[in-house]
Amino acid sequence: MTDPRRQLPSIDALLAGPGVAALLAEHPRALVVKAARAAVDAARLSGGGAPSEGWDEAVRVAVRRLAEPSLAPVINATGVVLHTNLGRAPLARAAIAAMTRVASGYAALEYDLGRGTRGSRHAHCRDLLVELTHAADALVVNNAAGALLLALSALVRGGEAVVSRGELVEIGGSFRIPDIMARSGARLVEVGTTNRTHPQDYDRALTPDSKILLKVHRSNFQVTGFTADVAVVELAEMAHARGLACIYDLGSGLLLNLSEWGLSGEPTVPEAVAAGADLVVFSGDKLLGGPQAGILVGTEQAIAACRADPIARAVRADKLTLAALEATLALYRDHATARREIPILRMLTEDLDEVKRRATAILQGVGAKGELIEGDSEVGGGSFPGAKLRTWLVGLPEERLAERLRSFDPPIIARVAGSRVLFDARTIFPEQVETLIAALRG
Ligand SMILES: *Cc1c(COP(=O)(O)O)cnc(C)c1O
Repeated sequence: MTDPRRQLPSIDALLAGPGVAALLAEHPRALVVKAARAAVDAARLSGGGAPSEGWDEAVRVAVRRLAEPSLAPVINATGVVLHTNLGRAPLARAAIAAMTRVASGYAALEYDLGRGTRGSRHAHCRDLLVELTHAADALVVNNAAGALLLALSALVRGGEAVVSRGELVEIGGSFRIPDIMARSGARLVEVGTTNRTHPQDYDRALTPDSKILLKVHRSNFQVTGFTADVAVVELAEMAHARGLACIYDLGSGLLLNLSEWGLSGEPTVPEAVAAGADLVVFSGDKLLGGPQAGILVGTEQAIAACRADPIARAVRADKLTLAALEATLALYRDHATARREIPILRMLTEDLDEVKRRATAILQGVGAKGELIEGDSEVGGGSFPGAKLRTWLVGLPEERLAERLRSFDPPIIARVAGSRVLFDARTIFPEQVETLIAALRG
């Protein structure tokens, strides 16, 4: 018997076929060649000869797969509002418009239009951040991990940073405080214990090399029971009394108080600034609801040191980020506008009846096999750990449904709980309901 693999066509022969020739009219030749190779390789690997669907179709499917961008929008039906794996914060319309405006041409990124001379990219969001947080100065970089690296390099390099053992945290994506510290050139001095740290623990650890007292917000876990820690207001006071600075890694960048909506315990940025920290570090794409960015606000002296540090250049923000962040920040001048226009805030503060109406519409769209279930959404993204947001879910029998929905266009990501797939209406946008129903019917 001859091995069927010996009868596989050559790439040239495949390209000459009528179906593949039609593909060449629509796609770059290099892509079609790559697809033809992939089809032949797949046939060889499967140990067979011609694919059952025929060569033309096999190449067409491979072309479609290779032409698709890998970074594509999805529908988030998980109910995790700040889903790091799904890109954290969806942007407000004003932010998208601002990005589009500066993306398509030149922009006054580092150009002073008044003077007609070179300007600074650091000028763009500065005034708004100062206005909204009441800090003396502000600086925007690529992300909060980069912002902390920069802050430690600028204020501590060669010296010591004192931090509680209860705050040596790991945030998702391999961000660990001790590792960042080591890379910044700061020496870490751990004080206290996992559950309890007292003011005298910091005091006892001080040496002539001490530069800062660092406070890290426990943004993705809770410590309960027999616990004690030193509030940032006290830590800042201690630092200043001893000629040191205080850095506060706040994480999520909440600008509004959301306790009216059942979300409390997460300090706001203005509160952190008012507590007296010299630098407050937070993300642009967590509770602030803007683009990925790392934001530093604080004293003129501390921000000036950050601006002058070479790391600032290495982690600088790009023009699209600055445009989107500036537009997002501007929405905060009116709190009701911010809650309505910033998707993260809209989802977190949405009326439960409204969520239920959307869940009901989805259920009615798919028919009898589903059920309406009361449950909880999650804030996610290392914010409000342990907070529960009541929500309404649509439950459907699993039967490989979750897998099928992941290959839908656009892919739909849902929660799997035992033999059911759950769709949380809180994170499903109103304009996505029809698409979701079509996918579930299909
Ligand atoms: C999320 C977080 C970071 C990292 O922020 P990125 O914007 O993801 O880089 C740092 N510190 C704390 C406390 C956080 O919660």
